[in-house]
Amino acid sequence: MMLVGEREREQQVVAEVSADELMKHTATIAAEERLSGNEAEAKAVGYFKQLMEDWGYDTKIQWIENYISLPIKGALTVLSPESRDVSCITHSFSVTTPPGGLEAELVYLPEGSNLDVRGRIVVQDGLALPATVYGTEQRGAAGQLFVNASDLPRNMIVSTIWGQPVPESAGRIPKTPVVSMNQENGEYLKALCAKGPVKVRLETETWTGFKKVPLAIADVKGKVEPDKFVMFNGHLDSWHEGASDNATANACMLETARVLAKHRDELKRGVRFIWWSGHSHGRYSGSNWYADYNWEDLDRNAVVNLNVDSLGCVGATDYSEVECSAELYDLGREVIEKYTGQRPNYQRIGRSGDQSFWGIGLPALYQLLSRAPKGEGAGVFISGLSWFWHTAADTMDKIDRDILLKDTQIYMATLWRLCTAPVLPMSYVPVAEEFARLLSGLQEKAGDAFDLMPAIESAELLKSRAAELRRAAEQASAGPGSDRAMALNECIVKLGRILMPAGYSAVDRFETDLAIPIPPLPRLQPVAQMAGMDRESNEYRFLERKMVRERTRVLHALNEATELIEKSLKTLEG
Ligand SMILES: [Zn+2]
Repeated sequence: MMLVGEREREQQVVAEVSADELMKHTATIAAEERLSGNEAEAKAVGYFKQLMEDWGYDTKIQWIENYISLPIKGALTVLSPESRDVSCITHSFSVTTPPGGLEAELVYLPEGSNLDVRGRIVVQDGLALPATVYGTEQRGAAGQLFVNASDLPRNMIVSTIWGQPVPESAGRIPKTPVVSMNQENGEYLKALCAKGPVKVRLETETWTGFKKVPLAIADVKGKVEPDKFVMFNGHLDSWHEGASDNATANACMLETARVLAKHRDELKRGVRFIWWSGHSHGRYSGSNWYADYNWEDLDRNAVVNLNVDSLGCVGATDYSEVECSAELYDLGREVIEKYTGQRPNYQRIGRSGDQSFWGIGLPALYQLLSRAPKGEGAGVFISGLSWFWHTAADTMDKIDRDILLKDTQIYMATLWRLCTAPVLPMSYVPVAEEFARLLSGLQEKAGDAFDLMPAIESAELLKSRAAELRRAAEQASAGPGSDRAMALNECIVKLGRILMPAGYSAVDRFETDLAIPIPPLPRLQPVAQMAGMDRESNEYRFLERKMVRERTRVLHALNEATELIEKSLKTLEG
């Protein structure tokens, strides 16, 4: 619940966001291609440092070492039945072919085909997604070509490892050369394959190794909870000029920082602005490094992971989704509805875009915001990305000043609420509901082969306690004094730490999930297979025991969350 005065204040602050400033920052940053660790990126980081220091932020540029891969060259030549060069690009974490390239038979592999691809170079439709590249490599392909459904090929990074490899994941570092081409070239190759045997030569070159890359970090502290902060973050490195991806988002962070600095005395908790390197060329290695090396600080003090990516694209007038974890849906929806008039649906945050903080349990809000209307931008990774996403056409002429302004106003209002609300604007009612919904969905699939009711009941109990917590938060927000609010905030932050890892992550809190789609409640997913299994088999019994453990993992987290709320509310009464 917000007081009228607070809402008016928010609108005054939001009105200070300047479209001129946003366009100026975007053009400055998008002037050159920002590869992880290159000169242009260092220049942008210098721009950040100077501005943030001028506005009074505690600013530092931290140089870290990341495992980076930069594409240099991709080339494909048809050798027979005819001779022809086919234009293509290679990808971050493709291997470099030996001198003279790789010569092999070319085969078309339609989706779902069981074709033997061992030793062959494979043409596939779609984007060079890490999971696809890994799967085709596992089948023994010698090389991989992807046909993008677009006029320009899309830059990709093909490793399934999130951030830096560790001994357990290093075996997943890609081992095949990979390229992508546009639709026209791809259709030519597919037609050729349909006629008879085709031989090609594939050449790729990438630079892969450890490289110094910068993280740009700037802090402002709040007055009531000085250690607590919103982590407002987005990547700096780009493909080509990357005007929309991600110069507009970088500009949004600078402009909200300028406005926020003027009102620092009103902030109850602070903001940490961070620009990541290593996003596009290190598979989120910058944010992965930051999570690993700042785990304790983030666990204790970070209240929200507020991410920003690809704002202000021409034609991106659709605000029908809020990407977030469920505790932040109400906040995202209210702000977007207020500033756009559109009422967005909940979209559970996915495994992309520097979501390196699931293990810590940092509630996540936003990533993409304004989107291309549905049906446009065919062949992009996520529906709503613009047609020029990850291509050489992502240039300043693709930026819409008014959309960028609106997007930034949404971020400004969101930051303002997160930093000035007495009680953090998060509700765990939707989180409990989501657990119950997901568990019921799995129960339906498992049928009578496995019983998830104990966990579903725990989710229902959590839901009722979370509703009590929300009522207490509304009362504390309306009343004077900050002690009650701070006690509630402590509880709210801790709930994220307990529930997010249980709901999102397939690994323990100190590890990181792979860069492949991770389903909700990932470790409980195998219960769905149990319905079709022979219950007398060893296989069933072994899996059943495993699922008992995973049910306990979820149930225990739900019960811990319930008890934490009960204890916190009791302390407040006492
Ligand atoms: Zn991006």
